[in-house]
Amino acid sequence: MENNKVRIGVIGAGIQGVCSALFLQKKGFQVTLFDRDEPGNSATYGNAGHFSPYASVPLNRPDVLTDVPSMLLSSRGPLALKWNYVPKMIPWFFKFILNCSKKKMMHTAKNMHQILDLAIPAFDELFEEIDVKDLVENKGIMYIWNEQNLKSRELEFNIRKELGVKHQMLSPKEIHDLEPNIKPFYHGGVFYNYARHTRNPKKILTRLFETFLKKGGKFLKLNINNLNFDNEKPVVRTEAQRFVFDKLVITCGAFSKQLTDKLYENIPLDTERGYHVHFKGCDHLISRPVVHANHAFGMTPMEQGLRVVGTVEFGGLKNPLSKTRIKNLVENAKDMLDGLPEHDDEWLGFRPSLPDFLPVIGPSKNYNNVFYSFGHHHLGWTLGAISGKIISKMIAKENTNLDLKAYSSQRFS
Ligand SMILES: Cc1cc2nc3c(=O)[nH]c(=O)nc-3n(C[C@H](O)[C@H](O)[C@H](O)COP(=O)(O)OP(=O)(O)OC[C@H]3O[C@@H](n4cnc5c(N)ncnc54)[C@H](O)[C@@H]3O)c2cc1C
Repeated sequence: MENNKVRIGVIGAGIQGVCSALFLQKKGFQVTLFDRDEPGNSATYGNAGHFSPYASVPLNRPDVLTDVPSMLLSSRGPLALKWNYVPKMIPWFFKFILNCSKKKMMHTAKNMHQILDLAIPAFDELFEEIDVKDLVENKGIMYIWNEQNLKSRELEFNIRKELGVKHQMLSPKEIHDLEPNIKPFYHGGVFYNYARHTRNPKKILTRLFETFLKKGGKFLKLNINNLNFDNEKPVVRTEAQRFVFDKLVITCGAFSKQLTDKLYENIPLDTERGYHVHFKGCDHLISRPVVHANHAFGMTPMEQGLRVVGTVEFGGLKNPLSKTRIKNLVENAKDMLDGLPEHDDEWLGFRPSLPDFLPVIGPSKNYNNVFYSFGHHHLGWTLGAISGKIISKMIAKENTNLDLKAYSSQRFS
């Protein structure tokens, strides 16, 4: 069948859904995008805005397990638990531990590197169609730390070296020259000068979404609560309506499991909850994203002000926002910069995370007309365009020249 006769439904209009829809549309398919909310109001709205093509070192690493107790005990640390959710997460934690061997870590790192390396060129293909001059800055991303002993960073450097990821080590003087307003608590840092950031992820998403509509794409603001099949064609269902497609793409971020469970998959998707606050009018204090590597939180200059972002909280999708995590971010930011006023806009978002820290990109195990693109954890913004491009090529049955096995949902069978 010619592409323009093929009807494709995409469920979820975050960065994954909108990029998939646009790349599918470029290939001539008829695309309908669904979301229960306005596009880009979920994790895509509140992230740190980093385009981080260098970030192939995963969280499933052998040394992380010894660090967890001290991270949990420290009120300034990046890790937190909602205790009522711990029993539900035990299977995920167990799988995560099994993925922390050196071999599994390297498997994740290599397969993340493969797609991260293509992430910025894939976005540039989409940015040819929208104006992002006011929204994307090419000033690099900087990580700084306050430890003289570099032992805990050594593993990351070695992996990046092995994969050929470029970086520049920074002395305290070089950090000061780049970001003079940061208090001089640091002993060193690393700079990725080719990384970018956006001053407003939601605005980029909205411009991409408007392009999709302008080119004839359809959007339906509906909550999809069931899926089934009619003569092998996927049927998308709400309480009151049904829509039949030739192919379907599920891009519901951390909420994707609610739909993949209906397809008899057992994908161990859960969420790492993350937070942000804004300090309005303070974005001029830094010129680029700065990440405090010891406390694992970052600050990004954005249109809304200085966005302070971080925390990995295990607590599921339903628990309320934790005020202690907000306090943690505010205090950490005030340790780094003088003169910050009261903060605004306390926000909680849901990173979609799998225990091997690889996304799921590819066809469903049981239904070859259904495709997935979710589970991009801390890197779902960076990986939006390349994942969408891969999905569009898979559906068009074109060669991607990539080894895609590692991203298949079959790895959980
Ligand atoms: C604090 C924080 C900081 C981050 N910083 C960065 C960063 O700097 N760089 C980076 O690369 N990544 C970052 N990330 C990760 C990134 O934001 C996410 O991985 C990415 O946004 C996930 O995109 P998505 O499209 O898969 O999901 P989402 O953005 O969550 O979108 C999913 C969409 O699906 C819709 N949906 C869900 N279920 C249904 C249903 N049943 N019916 C209809 N619609 C449905 C939702 O309404 C939502 O719009 C960060 C995440 C957080 C939380």
